[in-house]
Amino acid sequence: MSSDANCQEKELVRSQMALRTQEFMDGQTMLRNQGFTEDQTAVCRVCPHHCNIPVGAFGRCRARKNAGGKVICTNYGKLTSMALDPIEKKPLAYFLPGSMILSVGSYGCNLSCPFCQNYEISMAGESDFRILQEVSPQKLCSLAMREASRGNVGVAYTYNEALTGYEYVRDSARLVHEAGMVNVLVTNGMAELPVLEELLPFIDAMNIDLKGFRPDVYRKLGGALGTVKAFITRASQNCHVELTSLIVPGLNDDPADMERQAEWIAQIDPRMPLHLTRYFPRYRMHEKPTELSLLTRLKKVAQKSLERVLLGNV
Ligand code: SF4
Repeated sequence: MSSDANCQEKELVRSQMALRTQEFMDGQTMLRNQGFTEDQTAVCRVCPHHCNIPVGAFGRCRARKNAGGKVICTNYGKLTSMALDPIEKKPLAYFLPGSMILSVGSYGCNLSCPFCQNYEISMAGESDFRILQEVSPQKLCSLAMREASRGNVGVAYTYNEALTGYEYVRDSARLVHEAGMVNVLVTNGMAELPVLEELLPFIDAMNIDLKGFRPDVYRKLGGALGTVKAFITRASQNCHVELTSLIVPGLNDDPADMERQAEWIAQIDPRMPLHLTRYFPRYRMHEKPTELSLLTRLKKVAQKSLERVLLGNV
């Protein structure tokens, strides 16, 4: 081979290598933008845990999994609970009072509250159930319509943390709306705003937990106060929102914190209802139930800023 031909061949190899390097870099950027990493772990961005999940493994909530490099919710349409409840049980005191609502839940949660009232399903994964009822969004919508004759106004996504399977909420809620019924979301508010934005067009009312007003309270429960505050603020711009604080002695019972919490809520809307509910021993927490006198004292503190403060579980 002449030296000219040799040079041309080397140049060709160099440019092909440069092209392959660029393609590789573009591919990596694309994968990273989709939440994938080079070794096929996938990052879930539904909540601020941003779990980095290896292929075949589950995220912290036990409801989302890396299936071949893509994060999916495994609890889609797999129901552990279904009941026709008074809407006041969600709790919602100022949204269609006196109505019934078809309430459904699955499994999984992204917090780890030691006092969880529904721990049998919220702390569970699919392998903990022998039988799960599979209900497609279409089927759920027909069930909701059938229950209209018993006073049902729509569907409530509740019991476990519904946002760990937000895709099911979104797909069902769209159909329920098309059928002229309402959607209620009961959530801990520990989700990123893009997830909320996907749901807001279809959700009519929410009850959102506000489990305390200090970052360290949320850290103890495996959550992030800032995320929940941003969630509440955005949700309240689009739908009816009521808040629930389960008062646990020694965790979130400081009147000064309640005062700051109520002031913060009031700057969003002084008429936003706040439910102060009574803790009872459950799951990993065995301390005595919250004293009624403590709830009443905190209610008075909250009422300095808020017009609608209610006691629950009393
Ligand atoms: S939703 Fe579940 S898998 Fe996704 S980041 Fe949160 S805890 Fe992790």
